[in-house]
Amino acid sequence: MADRGVLLVTGGSRGIGAAVCRLGARAGYGVVVNYAARQDAAEALVAEIEAEGGRAVAVKGDVGVEADILALFQAADRFGPLAVLVNNAGIVDRPATLVEMTAERLERMFRVNTIGSMLCAREAIKRLSTAKGGRGGAIVNISSAATKLGAAGLFVDYAASKGAIDTFTVGLARELATEGVRVCAVRPGIIETDIHASGGLPDRVRDLTPSLPMKRPGTAEEVARAVLWLASEEASYSTGAILDVSGARAILP
Ligand code: NAP
Repeated sequence: MADRGVLLVTGGSRGIGAAVCRLGARAGYGVVVNYAARQDAAEALVAEIEAEGGRAVAVKGDVGVEADILALFQAADRFGPLAVLVNNAGIVDRPATLVEMTAERLERMFRVNTIGSMLCAREAIKRLSTAKGGRGGAIVNISSAATKLGAAGLFVDYAASKGAIDTFTVGLARELATEGVRVCAVRPGIIETDIHASGGLPDRVRDLTPSLPMKRPGTAEEVARAVLWLASEEASYSTGAILDVSGARAILP
C-alpha cells in the first residue's frame, strides 16, 4: 500500500472523523485517531484499520486544551511525517436561545470548535510549510451548514463558532498559498452521527428528514469522501475552497 505519510484526524474515533480515518487508511495514510474520552471507540477503530492491513494509532487529547494539542502532535511525530490535518473535533450543546447561554458555554464552544482548530492548524503548519523546511501538505477543516442557517433558537453559538472556521479557512489558505499547504473546508448538512444525541436532540435526524431536499440525511462516509479528495493531490489547485456536502441543504450564501 502507498505510504502517504500521516493523516491526523481530531475527533477521529466516532462519526465523521472515524469515516475519514477508515477511508484515509485505505488510501495509504498512517492514521492518528485523536479522541477526547471514549478510549474504547478509538481503540476499536484502530483494531479495525489494522485488521484491514492499515496503520493507525489512538491518541487521547482535548483540542480545547493547548497542552493536549502539543502532546497530540508530538505523538503524531513519533508515528511518522505529517501530511494532512483534518480539524474534525467539534461539539454542540443543548438547544437554547442566546439569552439562556452562559459565558462558560460560549467559551467552551469557541475553545473547542474554533480555537482548537486554529491551534491544531498552527502545529500542522510548523511541520508542513515548505517555508519551515516541511514537505507541504493539506489542512481540511470541518465546518457546518449551520454557518449559513444560523441555528436560531437552537445553538447560534455553534453556528458562529463554525462561521469563524469558514473565514479562517479562506484567510489561512491565502497565508499559506506559497508554502505548499492547501487549506480547505467541508460544510456537512444533516449527517447521521451521535452528535445530535450529544446535543440533547436524539430524534433530530429523523425529525428533519422530510424537510431535507434529498429526503434523507447524509452518511459520515459521504462527508469523508469529500475530505479525502480535498486532502489529496487530485485537489492540487483547490485551496480556500469550502465544499458543501449537505444534499442541497443551505447551499445559498
Ligand atoms: P460525533 O459523532 O459527536 O463525534 C465527535 C468526535 O469528536 C468523537 O470522536 C469525540 O471523541 C471527538 N471529540 C469531541 N470533543 C472533543 C475534544 N474536545 N477534543 C478532541 N476530540 C473531541 O460528531 P460528528 O457528528 O462526527 O461531527 C464531526 C464534526 O462534523 C464536528 O466538527 C461537527 O460540528 C461537524 N458537523 C457534523 C454534522 C452532523 O450532522 N453530524 C453536521 C455539520 C457539521 P470521544 O469519542 O472521545 O467523545
